[in-house]
Amino acid sequence: MTESFVVSARKYRPSTFNSVVGQSHITDTLKKAVLSNHLAQAYLFTGPRGVGKTTCARILAKAINCEKLEKDGEPCDACNSCKTFRENRSMNIFELDAASNNSVEDIRALVDQIRFSPQAGKYKTYIIDEVHMLSTQAFNAFLKTLEEPPPYAIFILATTEKHKIIPTILSRCQINDFNRIQVKDIVSYLQYISEQENIRSEETALHIIAQKADGALRDALTIFDRIVGFTQDEVTYDFVVKNLNIIDYDYFFKAIELIHDRNIAEILLVFDELLNKGFDGQHFLMGLSEHIRNLLISKLPKTDILLDVPETVKNRFAETAKDLNKSFILSALNILNQFNISYKESKNQRLHTELALIKLCHIQDAIDLAQTFNDQKKKAEVDKKETTKPGLSKDIEHKEKKAIDESPKKKNNFSKFRDLQSVKQQVKEEESQEKKVLTETSQETAEKNKKNTIDQRRFIELLNKYLEDEIKDKMISLYNSMIENKPKFPDEFSVLFEFENASLEERFNKGMGKFTDFMNKHEIENFQIQTTTREISREEQSKYLVSPAEKLKHLRGKNPELEQLEKKLGLSAEE
Ligand SMILES: [Zn+2]
Repeated sequence: MTESFVVSARKYRPSTFNSVVGQSHITDTLKKAVLSNHLAQAYLFTGPRGVGKTTCARILAKAINCEKLEKDGEPCDACNSCKTFRENRSMNIFELDAASNNSVEDIRALVDQIRFSPQAGKYKTYIIDEVHMLSTQAFNAFLKTLEEPPPYAIFILATTEKHKIIPTILSRCQINDFNRIQVKDIVSYLQYISEQENIRSEETALHIIAQKADGALRDALTIFDRIVGFTQDEVTYDFVVKNLNIIDYDYFFKAIELIHDRNIAEILLVFDELLNKGFDGQHFLMGLSEHIRNLLISKLPKTDILLDVPETVKNRFAETAKDLNKSFILSALNILNQFNISYKESKNQRLHTELALIKLCHIQDAIDLAQTFNDQKKKAEVDKKETTKPGLSKDIEHKEKKAIDESPKKKNNFSKFRDLQSVKQQVKEEESQEKKVLTETSQETAEKNKKNTIDQRRFIELLNKYLEDEIKDKMISLYNSMIENKPKFPDEFSVLFEFENASLEERFNKGMGKFTDFMNKHEIENFQIQTTTREISREEQSKYLVSPAEKLKHLRGKNPELEQLEKKLGLSAEE
């Protein structure tokens, strides 16, 4: 088994366009060209190493000489010509590896052959691998032939470094860009070979091989061969991890957990363990970087195709990613990137790595701190917004609303204010704070308040008219009292009436709705009426009567539901 299997790289080298892995955009075009006989005289195949450039060149050479071409443009792989190709004895294919044969003599030897037309078949194919390695002289010698090629000659130039090809050559070639082969394509190809060869392969193991091959199928096949060479007929994850000098996924998952838990001691021990196993700091942290990148991908929607991990591990990534926020991930990637940049220059690479690990353990602290700071800032902003309005903080509103909810049905404002007195003690503190903020109001708020300010002169004018027209004839004692005691304006939106006794106050309150309507009709709208009697200390009265009244007025404007509530409970004097 061992002996026969070491050849899988060659054995499973694709012999038809359809079996080329991951390059269908190129093989489809080539098949069409073969079928329609629209061949270019020169092709340039570019792309990373080991992705099928030379393989495709050989299949093309075979196809254009095939005697019984398949309907879809594939070589039949059975005719005489195909047979000679398969057995490596065709006279119509010439390969030059410019990496080792790059002198002008090598090119001349090749060019000399071109003069002879094919003895069998239609085309002679010249494949020059690593064409960018040709010396300048060799390039020039070749250019002549490329400018005037005989019709039976097809050139296929292959290179991993397209930018090194001079424009005069580029312009004469049809250019085909080969892809890096995706991990999943390599994995499924290795799975296919495993099935064909009765090899028990673990998907996770094939994934590791594919990743190690870095997009090159040829490398993947070589690694696969090597592993099978050791283990006979199985490819296990454990064996592959050990033999390819790969750090196990488990290490990374564990590392992330420790970092997230800020467990500096444990993460340093993990690193020590890896050092003892022969890995260095860069190997570990660059692997961790890749791992975190995968976690980020797992968090994003619709990025599944970017996640090159085995199906069996995908869930684990998704689960772990749930617990990490993006700030954590991005900060970690940033730290790891910085680590990598300065790794080579650092004199003590172990310490350098340990510092990076410690930094990683501090990310969560930084995030928590930023969060706390933001919360405080937000809270401060909200508080400011609420208190700078000529209203109240939510808290006070809530308490007042509650008080109203709980108050028994009363028919006038006065009673309502009285009920609100119970709120007074609760809100006293907030109030004083609030007043402070009010005095520090912004210009905007000041501007707004200006509109609300009562035009005092006009108010008195209208009051006198009202007293004359509506009160004088009906309630002379009230009239006398009110003429005697001019109202006061304790603040921008309050009017305070003083009465000699509670009876007068009550009479006024009964008719307050009408008075308010009268004032509103004359466009005096933003004011709150407070009433008091001289029987109790004026100072104390104003203290608690002023505030709830203005608050209530404000609340009504701000919260229509409150008004409905008042109506429902029969509390509103305006009814
Ligand atoms: Zn054939």
